[in-house]
Amino acid sequence: MSGKRILIVEDNELNLKLMRDLLQAYGYETAEARNGIEGLELARRLRPDLILMDLQLPEMDGLEAIRRLKSDPQTRQIRVYAVTAFAMKGDEEKVQGAGCDGYIAKPIDTRQLIRRVQEVLASHSTPETP
Ligand code: MN
Repeated sequence: MSGKRILIVEDNELNLKLMRDLLQAYGYETAEARNGIEGLELARRLRPDLILMDLQLPEMDGLEAIRRLKSDPQTRQIRVYAVTAFAMKGDEEKVQGAGCDGYIAKPIDTRQLIRRVQEVLASHSTPETP
């Protein structure tokens, strides 16, 4: 077991199940939220090693949730990867502007997803510069 905890914020049950089953099969501990507000709450409470964040979410969208996480000193060090199809023009810029650490493309390619997650968790997070 890796002992690493990953928070999945995703409102689509199929995508959620796909990511959860995959990550658990690789020994990661998972937590899940189905809307942005719940995601934000769980991030604050659990302090996961990584958050996989869908962008189109009920209650609060993923971009807003990322902005809040990254503007809060308690949570800004948590790495957040957007999981998105980038359907709209300008999405990539918006994600970067929100302070996201990276993104994973939808439709989800399981081999690519697990490789990416392993890379991210193997690297140390960048220390905060005040
Ligand atoms: Mn969604």
